[in-house]
Amino acid sequence: MRQIESMKRIIITVDGWSSCGKSTMARQLAKQLNYIFIDSGAMYRAITLYFLRNNTDIKDLTSVIAALKNIQLSFQINSSNGNNEIWLNGENVEQFIRGMEVAEKVSEVAAIKQVREFAVKQQQMIGEKKGIVMDGRDIGTAVFPNAELKIFMTADNEVRVLRRFKELSDKNPSIHIEEIRSNLAQRDHMDSTREVSPLRKAEDAVVLDNSHLTPDEQLQLALGWAREKIQD
Ligand code: C5P
Repeated sequence: MRQIESMKRIIITVDGWSSCGKSTMARQLAKQLNYIFIDSGAMYRAITLYFLRNNTDIKDLTSVIAALKNIQLSFQINSSNGNNEIWLNGENVEQFIRGMEVAEKVSEVAAIKQVREFAVKQQQMIGEKKGIVMDGRDIGTAVFPNAELKIFMTADNEVRVLRRFKELSDKNPSIHIEEIRSNLAQRDHMDSTREVSPLRKAEDAVVLDNSHLTPDEQLQLALGWAREKIQD
């Protein structure tokens, strides 16, 4: 039997609601297939971080366009943990983009058409060679509408709130669960109602509800779907 790595290379998109474990699943899936993993949300977060640091007025389109011209994003593998991490203008910003300050602004930033065009162009270039798993909100609908495998992830609201609370409270013990509940609700609302590329399930996406699945169970499901497509 041929090794899976030497077989047809495809594009796998993983979209869904905030905090339903998309990145964790997509990263593991990419690792199993020896594919590149791209967390597209990290790009919107890094752009938001740049705007916050430089006091960019996001209501003023001229300022936004000027700021975008000064932003260079790239992904680089961190040799100590094997993760593909985001760099902003030559700085690894992974540790600065996951807190509440960025989370509170990112959906507003990601709703700006010019910001999306800037990010989507780079995402499409990264995917040109295939062999990629990319997670986000519009990857199967707008970035790679012809992807061979599209997964739409979802989980019960409270399950998502508790997962994100656990993740953030490990780093910041003073964080309140209510703050997380309202941030998730707000981001879901903004992401699914914005004008440009709103979050929605692509018609040809398979749904993965992981409310009651272990990380390994969900990985095995996704791996099964991927292998079917790769062997097609
Ligand atoms: O995936 P993550 O929660 O890190 O994404 C942060 C935010 O970036 C989302 O809430 C959403 O507003 C935005 N996003 C997006 N399109 C993507 C990925 C993320 O609009 N493809």
